[in-house]
Amino acid sequence: MCSIIGYKGNEHASSVLVEGLRKMEYRGYDSVGIATIKSGKLLIRKGVGKVAEVNKSLRLDELPGNLGIGHTRWATHGGIVDSNAHPHLACKSTIAVVHNGIIENYNELKNELCRSGHEFKSETDSEVIAHLLEEYFEITGDIRLSMIFTCKRLQGSFAFVAMFNSSTLCGARYDEPLIIGVGNDDYFLSSDILGFLNYTDRAIFLDNRDIVILNDNDISFFNFDGDRVSRRMTQVAWELGDADKGKYSHFTLKEIHEQRYTIVKSMQQDKKNLEKFCDILTGGKNIYITGSGTSYHSALLAKQIFSKSKIHVETIMSSEFQYSSDMLDENSVLLAISQSGETADVIQSVKSAKTMGAKVISIVNIPTSSLARLSDSYLEVKCGPEIGVAATKSFTSQIALLYYVADIIGRKSNGILSSKDILVKAVIQVLELDSQIEGIADQLKHSKDVYILGRSLHFPICLEGALKIKELSYIHAEGMAAGELKHGPLALIDTNSIVIVLHPDDSTYGDTLSNIHTIKSRGAKIVGISNKKDALYDYQITIPTINESLYPLIEVIPLQLLAYHLSICNNGNPDYPRNLAKSVTVK
Ligand code: GLU
Repeated sequence: MCSIIGYKGNEHASSVLVEGLRKMEYRGYDSVGIATIKSGKLLIRKGVGKVAEVNKSLRLDELPGNLGIGHTRWATHGGIVDSNAHPHLACKSTIAVVHNGIIENYNELKNELCRSGHEFKSETDSEVIAHLLEEYFEITGDIRLSMIFTCKRLQGSFAFVAMFNSSTLCGARYDEPLIIGVGNDDYFLSSDILGFLNYTDRAIFLDNRDIVILNDNDISFFNFDGDRVSRRMTQVAWELGDADKGKYSHFTLKEIHEQRYTIVKSMQQDKKNLEKFCDILTGGKNIYITGSGTSYHSALLAKQIFSKSKIHVETIMSSEFQYSSDMLDENSVLLAISQSGETADVIQSVKSAKTMGAKVISIVNIPTSSLARLSDSYLEVKCGPEIGVAATKSFTSQIALLYYVADIIGRKSNGILSSKDILVKAVIQVLELDSQIEGIADQLKHSKDVYILGRSLHFPICLEGALKIKELSYIHAEGMAAGELKHGPLALIDTNSIVIVLHPDDSTYGDTLSNIHTIKSRGAKIVGISNKKDALYDYQITIPTINESLYPLIEVIPLQLLAYHLSICNNGNPDYPRNLAKSVTVK
């Protein structure tokens, strides 16, 4: 969730930190802060708002010094107010800390620290880390021991960076990402490689329960038990830093349009990797697929795609995994799907599946992510950095890859490979509907409720479309299996309702048409997404005719565009929707 960054080197730290935080803005946040050290003195500025706004008012990037830490906060504990923004200082202002995650036992630690005289200035869970470090430093006089003792006391999930006024920078991680960027004369500690990729492509990925300590000219790694560990340096791809809006006004719009390239790119897989992945998948007696949010919708669609290829799979929502995974065992395979590869619910599911003896494979966009590293095998969707908080291109890449895998291992093909060229043309045609959809959004912008209906393969797309509309435009939207309407939700339909119907001319056409008649007779407005014209629709979005199994890949695009334009019409910020973060690393 949100981001942390630390810097130690020869550059003006605060400018480096502000720039790094800007690059990681896509992760989502509500407050920003920076602390640096100059001549042994700790300086701090922080406030509520976006990096650019807070920097403009507080001049974060003017803090002097070559050593510093920075943070963007996505509040979990304590209101969104300046005093809760990070960094947090311990009592004597000689230690500052930035933290991502949740310290579950913070209350108990806080009470204990208060009893020994510590005074707290914020309502956050994170502040306990600074005071614990101070407490243990007073007892031991040793930074390494203070870090070890502190980490051992913390329960929950955390990545934190601490700065001591003796010019030492430290970091630790447990179930939250923390990556070290290694420059020529400088080091970075960051939640995401985008935080330092402008300076260096050499990175060290910390393992869970790792502590790193950076003194002058020395970097050392320990685990929480105090044992020295060594960590390998890897070279990361510069292209990952390619986060530029180009000619588009928002990343989200750019990413929607990139689908003309990204969908097919996901099927360009290394033969050996693909073989290994498919071998594990087919070796499982029981196959389960898990994911969260959009990736869960990919899982739901995968169930149907796999079923058409005669492979039985079950889906489990990652946040529900712990309550419904008792049937997993050593004969099971868990396929986990996550764009970031850091989603806490997914990581937790994978860890418990492993303890039950199941094999784990994954579909990720970030090959260096925790999920990829935890998996027995993984495939990359290769859609490039997705900066917009709402997943768009990563979704279609995930599902294209799932079609591809199903067609390779299944007894019956969905035909994605033989339809590749037609598919690309169809995607381009749908993207050309952008301005028509902008017009429809303008007509629908005052709607209070939107329903999206479809059957079979269209149903997961209804859920995904509704999620996009909720996330981006803040309009209430619900995706439904069209046949379920009469079992209850029809009671909600009246002349103010907007009903979007996924209605291509396929095996679901006739039944869905009957549902449209039922809705229409209650006075609702119908938006039809179909390859067939129909006077029943109040607004028609015409998509091209393609192989009927593949409609999900193209019909989701008008829904993404609609959600984007509704956001713009309602003065939202589609790239950074309120209350949301790109990488959901808390449970
Ligand atoms: N739990 C901490 C807070 O609410 C950190 C949240 C974050 O990851 O930004 O301040």
